[in-house]
Amino acid sequence: MTTANQGTRVLVLNSGSSSVKYQLLDMRDASRLAVGLVERIGEETSRLKHSPLATGGATREQNGPIADHEAALKAVAAELAVDGLGLDSPELAAIGHRVVHGGLKFSAPTVITDEVLAEIERLVPVAPLHNPANITGIRTAQALRPDLPQVAVFDTAFHTTMPESAARYAIDIETADAHRIRRYGFHGTSHAYVSRETARLLGKAPEDVNVIVLHLGNGASASAVRGGRCVDTSMGLTPLEGLVMGTRSGDIDPAVTFHLMRVAGMSADDIDVLLNKKSGLVGLCGDNDMREIRRRCDEGDEKAQLAFDIYIHRLKKYIGAYYAVLGKVDAIAFTAGVGENAAPVREAAVAGLEELGLAVDGDLNAVRSDRPRLISPEYARVAVAVVPTDEELEIAQQTYALVSPALNS
Ligand code: AMP
Repeated sequence: MTTANQGTRVLVLNSGSSSVKYQLLDMRDASRLAVGLVERIGEETSRLKHSPLATGGATREQNGPIADHEAALKAVAAELAVDGLGLDSPELAAIGHRVVHGGLKFSAPTVITDEVLAEIERLVPVAPLHNPANITGIRTAQALRPDLPQVAVFDTAFHTTMPESAARYAIDIETADAHRIRRYGFHGTSHAYVSRETARLLGKAPEDVNVIVLHLGNGASASAVRGGRCVDTSMGLTPLEGLVMGTRSGDIDPAVTFHLMRVAGMSADDIDVLLNKKSGLVGLCGDNDMREIRRRCDEGDEKAQLAFDIYIHRLKKYIGAYYAVLGKVDAIAFTAGVGENAAPVREAAVAGLEELGLAVDGDLNAVRSDRPRLISPEYARVAVAVVPTDEELEIAQQTYALVSPALNS
């Protein structure tokens, strides 16, 4: 068993199949000491980008093959060492890993033991795209610092409070249980952070507010949060369900799948790729970047306009559904790349919902800022907010809360 030290730094690792994103934070003031990214791991054209924020130095870039995650993490460690922030530093308290799927077992951040790692591995069949990369990241970090606590922070954890009525699909219950088929939800770290920050923006405790969080990035999900606890979310067994996303269809009649198998001769894998990678905004109009879609809409491009309209229609349906689920709503919070930046999306999503107490003030909505802010007019019954998400900070805070002797004494 690893032991907690007196360090105040946390390294946050987000390991994807061919990338590693990282941030080193000092938990005394939640400041970023370094941030970076390794991309295209395993290819000839790998790239490491490292910004040493603590020293104020320029961003450094390394181009050239990085064979695997181990080589990637070693390269990151070497970059950190250049800034005097090496992984061997006694200041490092723990490494926090983003783990996409925690199933039903993990409802809270967890110090990683062999048993925990084995359970994350058992979940690979329900998260084949994500958990294997997370496991590789954990193993590699463990090899580099075997003495250091490693903590898993699960994307699904915040959603484990969903009642069975929201978490279950209406399918044969024995088949569902045999294959662990249920709605787990994702982006939980973001929904947790943003719902809490929204309460703070309203000057209230999280327990006292009901919030609809709209995490609109390239992946997108909505959640209904009652008094700080998630009661419903739009992603399901996998991140495919729910809103229209950059490349994912979101909600779709499951019969489309077997129809395509029968009439188009497509395999399960073909349809997996179709629905996850070639659908959503990109499938509808060829672009998944909302900036480009808006630009095309402004030029009268009909395909882009249809993609935008379908995106907004689905978003509105979820706002209405979660309004009904919660009964009373104090705030709607927009977050992530689209939610934080695309004023036309926020305006269109709320347009026509005045009867529900929802409105957006045009001037406030047009303000660009990286601070949490209200964009609803004063008279509106429900606050509409833009709340930038910070998944890395949330992972670091949850990790540190678990390992810091000061916080646990
Ligand atoms: P994320 O997954 O949270 O990083 O969000 C990425 C997405 O945010 C991109 O694919 C764009 O669609 C969107 N995005 C980023 N910046 C802007 C912007 N200034 N205006 C509109 N959409 C944006």
